[in-house]
Amino acid sequence: MTAIVSPVDTERATTVTLEAVVKDFGSNRVLHGLDLEVGAGEFVSLLGPSGCGKTTALRLIAGLEQLTSGVIRMNGEDVSNIPVNRRDIGMVFQSYSLFPHLDVLQNTVFGLQMRKVAKDEANRRAMESLELVGLGEFSERFPHELSGGQQQRVALARALVTSPKVLLLDEPLSALDAKVRVQLRDEIRRLQQQVGITTVFVTHDQEEALAISDRIAVMDAGKIEQIGTPEELYGSPSSPIVAAFVGMSSLVPTSVSAGRAVIWGVEVGVVGEAPDGDYHAFVRPESIRLAEDGEPGVPGVVETSTFLGSFRRSAVRIPDGSLVVIQHPTTLSLERGDKVRLTIDNRPVVVRPIP
Ligand code: ATP
Repeated sequence: MTAIVSPVDTERATTVTLEAVVKDFGSNRVLHGLDLEVGAGEFVSLLGPSGCGKTTALRLIAGLEQLTSGVIRMNGEDVSNIPVNRRDIGMVFQSYSLFPHLDVLQNTVFGLQMRKVAKDEANRRAMESLELVGLGEFSERFPHELSGGQQQRVALARALVTSPKVLLLDEPLSALDAKVRVQLRDEIRRLQQQVGITTVFVTHDQEEALAISDRIAVMDAGKIEQIGTPEELYGSPSSPIVAAFVGMSSLVPTSVSAGRAVIWGVEVGVVGEAPDGDYHAFVRPESIRLAEDGEPGVPGVVETSTFLGSFRRSAVRIPDGSLVVIQHPTTLSLERGDKVRLTIDNRPVVVRPIP
């Protein structure tokens, strides 16, 4: 059995480290001293809005761009000046980037031919790689005879065929329609775990990042704002930027005094430092519920209520004008115009000054 189909190969799995990485394009500083450690066999997503520098960071790891300053290491070794073709990396891009005039097997075998692997051996490994992505039957088709999802699977097979140390994925799902995107997303995660390859995945889609990552680095304006497991980022965002970018929140006015906020009569903790004053608090839908009689709460009127299969999501207008989103079981049937009273769980909230 070759390395590619073996279970997690801890000896081969590689760490990737970025130390104080700075990248300028002319006078435009795009990365402002990025520090990142990706563990051996770990799946880390770079998540952030368009233009925050995710692709640039990935291209630096690949060796497709030169660092302005800082160091990139693989397994501790400084690779900053090693060219792309000697970094032992597999890459998949947003566009399928297959050779249109080559069939699926020829596309997949390409990287091995470049490395002068003997033809029989190269074809055998390419077929194994195609089996791995579920396309063993498609080896003689041409790219135009495949769906977008299948073309990305070929791109994945091609990236993995050389058993690279690191897999870099740059928005590989964004050209696909919603259903295929979810299928291939789960497939990528399954493959990554099966092969045990260290993977860095760039996306601006928070749901995608939450679904498949071991850890997510939320980036903003060329910096990492927070890095953590999906649960940590969702449950304990460390800043307004992360709270706003990851998951859904309602913005509720509150005032902070001595590090505590009062929301609808309930006193809650505040994440991080917040001097006394008026703020918006980020409140998750599942932190809000209907108040029982006698509980502190706020009155409101339902504006919309949407059936979402296993739960309902309703938007409630409260007297200060805020629209508050709650999530509740489908057994609670709310309709537009219903009068309700909301209360909030006593969990620490992220706050940001009212603009
Ligand atoms: P997106 O999700 O839109 O791809 P991103 O977070 O991946 O965004 P980058 O592609 O890394 O962002 O771009 C970050 C910034 O660097 C942008 O302002 C972009 O215009 C700039 N930039 C990227 N590549 C170059 C280049 N080759 N020359 C000049 N500026 C560049």
